[in-house]
Amino acid sequence: MNSHSSSENSEAYIALGANLGDREATLLEAIHRLNRHPEITILRCSSLYETDPVGYVDQPNFINMALALQTTLEPEQLLTVMLQIELDLGRERHIHWGPRTVDLDLLWMEGRTLDTPRLTLPHPRMHERAFVLVPLAEIVPATETTGLYPYVQHALTSGGGKEGVRLWKECSWPSASGHSAN
Ligand code: ATP
Ligand code: CA
Ligand code: CA
Repeated sequence: MNSHSSSENSEAYIALGANLGDREATLLEAIHRLNRHPEITILRCSSLYETDPVGYVDQPNFINMALALQTTLEPEQLLTVMLQIELDLGRERHIHWGPRTVDLDLLWMEGRTLDTPRLTLPHPRMHERAFVLVPLAEIVPATETTGLYPYVQHALTSGGGKEGVRLWKECSWPSASGHSAN
């Protein structure tokens, strides 16, 4: 399927969103929990953006952000960790695309494409979502050689613009935690 050995470190990008409760605190707690996993190291966090809801619009505004991490987990294992963190932080699923305490989407993972009922990589809707692309563009280096940088730049310029996505504040991780990013 691909050239990765199981113990190899892969870079991955995750989109985070929240629109219920203390949105910023919940997102930071999700980042802490990811970083506490022995096989996950957070590399970079984007700024936090306040965004208008898309699709199901009769709900509070979201805070959205993106992060880059390094992991020795397989994509399915990383997704399992992410879904467990959503549950532990009080995510309930009622309305599709409806309000949520926290949403963690796996956007992209180095060298991986997947299309199973449980996990599609890259995330199939990321290219059409300014609330994903704008924070992501902050943390994908132009030196990225695997194609993510041009993908994000192209999606940003060919998509519907950045309307409804407002810079809200810097990410306080890792300074709020006392942890180091390394
Ligand atoms: P969207 O995927 O359009 O952003 P959503 O985030 O609201 O919608 P959820 O209810 O959070 O959807 O997730 C539904 C399922 O999507 C998850 O249980 C998971 O198995 C699956 N899924 C498939 N691909 C991915 C991915 N790349 N990242 C996260 N979940 C994924
Ligand atoms: Ca989502
Ligand atoms: Ca999701």
